[in-house]
Amino acid sequence: MTTEPTTFAHHLSQDPVPDEVRTAVLADPGFGTTFTDHMVKIDWSGDVVRGTGRWSDPRIEPYGPLVLDPAAAVLHYGQEIFEGLKAYRHADGSVWTFRADANADRLNRSARRLALPELPEQLFLDALRELVRVDEQWVPDGDGESLYLRPFMIATEAFLGVRPAREVLFSVIASPAGNYFGGPVKPVDIWLSRDYARAGRGGTGAAKCGGNYAASLVAQLEGDAHGCQQVMFLDRDRGDAVEELGGMNVFFVHEDGRLVTPELTGTILEGVTRRSIIQLAKDRGLSVEERRFTLDEWREGWRAGTITEAFACGTAAVITPIGRLVSAEEVIGDEGARPGEVTMDIRKQLLEIQTGRAEDPHGWLTRLV
Ligand SMILES: *Cc1c(COP(=O)(O)O)cnc(C)c1O
Repeated sequence: MTTEPTTFAHHLSQDPVPDEVRTAVLADPGFGTTFTDHMVKIDWSGDVVRGTGRWSDPRIEPYGPLVLDPAAAVLHYGQEIFEGLKAYRHADGSVWTFRADANADRLNRSARRLALPELPEQLFLDALRELVRVDEQWVPDGDGESLYLRPFMIATEAFLGVRPAREVLFSVIASPAGNYFGGPVKPVDIWLSRDYARAGRGGTGAAKCGGNYAASLVAQLEGDAHGCQQVMFLDRDRGDAVEELGGMNVFFVHEDGRLVTPELTGTILEGVTRRSIIQLAKDRGLSVEERRFTLDEWREGWRAGTITEAFACGTAAVITPIGRLVSAEEVIGDEGARPGEVTMDIRKQLLEIQTGRAEDPHGWLTRLV
C-alpha cells in the first residue's frame, strides 16, 4: 500500500550558513560536528499503553536548540531512540539513501522496546527526503563523503512519574561526513571489555537507544587508556561469546572463505551494514554462518591460521579491519597486520553500490533528490 506523501510545513531559516562557510566545511567535513541549516520535527501525543495517539504538525524548521521542560521524561529516564544512515551524492548530482526502509523498520523495533510510538515508514522516508531537499547543498560529493542523517525520538512530556510519556518528538538532523578513514584504511586495535557489558538478557541491547551508548563509555575510556580505538563486548553468560563493538557488528573471515558473525541473540544490535554484508558475501558464493562465536574460537583460529581476517561494520565507518584484540591477559592478532583481502573487497563493493559506481542488484538505493 502506498500512501500520499505527507505535506511538511516549511519554516525556512532566515539566517542560513553563508555559502563560503559551507563550502569550507564541505572541503573537510570531519564527522558529526557541523549541521545543516534545517531540521525535521514531528510531534506525537497519545498513549502507547492503550495503543492510541497521532503524529501531527510535520515541519521543517531552522536548525537550532530544542526547548524542553526540565521535567521532560527523556532527561530523567532516558526514553530515547535514534537511527543513523547516509545520503550519497552520485556522479550525475542525484542524491540517494541506502536501505532507509530497514532503518525505518529498526526505529519501530526500538520504539516498541522503549515504549515509544511507532512512526509510519512512509513518514520516516518523507522526513528524510524533505530535509535532504531543503539542505541539498550540504551533501558533499567527494570520495567516501556523504550527508549523515540522524533521526531520533525523545519523550518530551513533563512528568516525573515513571510510565511511557504521552508526548514525544521525532526529529531528524543532518551533518556532512567526510571519508571516515581519511586516507588509507588502517586496521584498528580493539580493547576487550571484561568488567563491563553494554547489554544483557532481556535488556535493550537490540534497540538503538542512547542508554546503550552511555553504558559503553567507561569501557571505551578503558580502551583509550590501553591505546585501543574501539571496545569489544562479550556475553559472559554464554561462555565468552563475542557480541559486538560499542557501535559496530563484527565478522570473522576463515581461510576457506567462510564468514562467521555472532548470531542475533537479543543483546546484539542488528546492523543494516551487517545484513548487507551477509547478502553480498552470499552473492559471491561465500558461506556465512550466524552463530555463537567465542573468544576461545577466535584465539585458536588465529593461532592455527584458520581465521585470517576480522572486521567491524556499521554505517558511519562502513567496514573497518580489526588488527588486534587486546586485553589485560593477552593479545589476539598480529602487530602491524595489513587489511584483509576479503574485508577490503566487500568494503569496496558496498561503497560502490552506495555511491552509484556499481550496480545495485538488490534495489537498496532510494533516490531523494
Ligand atoms: C548502529 C549500531 C550498529 C551498526 O548498525 P548499522 O545499521 O550497520 O549502522 C551496530 N551496533 C550498535 C550497538 C549500533 O548502535
